[in-house]
Amino acid sequence: MVGGGIIGTMHALLAVEAGHEVVHIERDSKPLSASVRNFGLVWVSGRAAGGELAIALRARQLWEEIGSKAEIGFRPQASLTIAQNEAEFEVMVAAAAMDDAHERGFRLLDRNQVQTLEPVLQGKFVGALQCTQDGAVEPSLLLGGLRDYLAKHPNYSWKPNFEVVDFYHDEHGNHVTDIEGSKISSDLLVICPGSAHQGFLAEFLADAPLRRVHLQMGATVPFGATLGHSIADADSMRYYPAFKDLALDTMPPQEEIAAQYKMQLLLVPRLDRSFTIGDTHEYQEPFSHEILEAPYDHLRKVISNIFGAPAPTIARRWSGNYSQITSTDLYFRKELAPGAVVVTGGGGRGNTISPAIAEETINSWPK
Ligand SMILES: Cc1cc2nc3c(=O)[nH]c(=O)nc-3n(C[C@H](O)[C@H](O)[C@H](O)COP(=O)(O)OP(=O)(O)OC[C@H]3O[C@@H](n4cnc5c(N)ncnc54)[C@H](O)[C@@H]3O)c2cc1C
Repeated sequence: MVGGGIIGTMHALLAVEAGHEVVHIERDSKPLSASVRNFGLVWVSGRAAGGELAIALRARQLWEEIGSKAEIGFRPQASLTIAQNEAEFEVMVAAAAMDDAHERGFRLLDRNQVQTLEPVLQGKFVGALQCTQDGAVEPSLLLGGLRDYLAKHPNYSWKPNFEVVDFYHDEHGNHVTDIEGSKISSDLLVICPGSAHQGFLAEFLADAPLRRVHLQMGATVPFGATLGHSIADADSMRYYPAFKDLALDTMPPQEEIAAQYKMQLLLVPRLDRSFTIGDTHEYQEPFSHEILEAPYDHLRKVISNIFGAPAPTIARRWSGNYSQITSTDLYFRKELAPGAVVVTGGGGRGNTISPAIAEETINSWPK
């Protein structure tokens, strides 16, 4: 298994539990890419009807099971998408009436109902769409927690500081090597490189329907009161495919800064009471190397409007890239040789659906 992010780690977990012996390879001393830079959301609410919703719901079940045995901070933390005006609320009325609204755990809440659940929300808003199928994990605990759980298993070994620079297949199986020529061999090989589409994978991914996306994020200081839901603003409905057939154009236009940086507000309360907040989206490379301040000003303004109080100070800022498939498939899987696949491209739903992706890979192996 190559890649210590969530896709590689979920493959390692499910493969070990299926009885395989796993060597889990990572180029860095600990994973530092998308899987530790994200919101940790298990976000079912926005998934497109059909196959995307189905894989997200299957993954949600798997998260519940995995969260009950590994210390990853999993919690069935529902979400509230907040309507800040009547027009946004009307779109949520329609969302709550969608055919699959029940599967998503949608519930339309008026302002009083929102405040009964979350008394700390005292700002200007009309109501909210609650999604009880959403959940969250702690990105700071997730990968280490899964590896700690795996480490108890004699069939698992963790191999950090091993950057794969070459891959080949012969009659003995599949082989990866590092720059010093050290080799690790296996009959089955899953390469989960995240957004590292270059290097030895470049030739295999040359025509792949993949792009990289760059996002800006932040974390606040701990907040004075508890919040039991993840929060989104109605701009999120413009981006999530679940809502694409609703009358989104009846909502007031996005603020200029939000439109410019393709923003939504997502706010996830962490176990230490800080909030992870974001995000922006940049689709065109080369990406900006600077952390830009204007999007954070916008996020803090929206938070302040919803909470009816100044937004907590931002303590940390970072950016991250994910790999996103650009075809209608839900993620990217390509066979490199018999028994060897590359799996990536889960995009902004990569954390959410990761256990179900791994399950599909393992189910495809010979019994
Ligand atoms: C800011 C941000 C917010 C997000 N929020 C969410 C969210 O809330 N919910 C959600 O569902 N998704 C979210 N996503 C998407 C999600 O984080 C990704 O889809 C997911 O983490 C991808 O996991 P991965 O394992 O494929 O990639 P990564 O996490 O990038 O891991 C790939 C790993 O492979 C290693 N690697 C690469 N090449 C080699 C090599 N040659 N040799 C050895 N090791 C190698 C890398 O070092 C890395 O550790 C977000 C992404 C970002 C960037």
